[in-house]
Amino acid sequence: MLQIVFATNNYNKLKEIRHILPPTISVLGLSDIGFDTDIPENGLTLKENATIKSSTIYERFNIDCFSDDTGLMVDDLNDAPGVYSARYAGENASYDDNVEKLLKDLEGSTNRSAHFSTVISLFLGGIEYFFEGRIDGIISHKKSGHSGFGYDPIFIPDGYDITFSEMSSKLKNSISHRGLATSKLVKFLKDKI
Ligand code: IMP
Repeated sequence: MLQIVFATNNYNKLKEIRHILPPTISVLGLSDIGFDTDIPENGLTLKENATIKSSTIYERFNIDCFSDDTGLMVDDLNDAPGVYSARYAGENASYDDNVEKLLKDLEGSTNRSAHFSTVISLFLGGIEYFFEGRIDGIISHKKSGHSGFGYDPIFIPDGYDITFSEMSSKLKNSISHRGLATSKLVKFLKDKI
């Protein structure tokens, strides 16, 4: 049995990965190991932020662990909001505040290309591994759909004419940045045990 910590407080992410992994891999959340301190995500890249979270837990508990970091990069905004995706409209911004700001910043733009990237940092046996997932698409002119979270109502993946928010979570997970990065992690862990 491999026991591994997912350095996240997001219960949905934990549930999702527990569902995908075989029963021989047990995934603990931060609350399961009694860690309730906020880890500052002050890196300049997704990779740095992912490493900050997983190395904090690895160094403190000496236990195998992984973390993820995601950002939305918009071409015409020089890859903003990027690492600042969660707080694009300010420190305590809601998902909706961020979406409104992005739509405003892109007003009049003729290039609405963007992509989501997820980076996962895994510490296994003291060695760090990275897994990445990316999906390209465009930012729509207005919000559509009600499912998902974050920028889902305004992101239309290439090859589709609906936003992430108009998709079932099953379809979104099968093509999304996080879905792709997670699949790579899962394959790697399965091969290890
Ligand atoms: P995190 O690193 O997973 O916490 O993601 C940082 C921010 O990126 C979130 O607060 C959301 O605004 C945005 N984000 C991450 N994943 C998604 C997604 O799948 N759809 C839409 N927005 C996302």
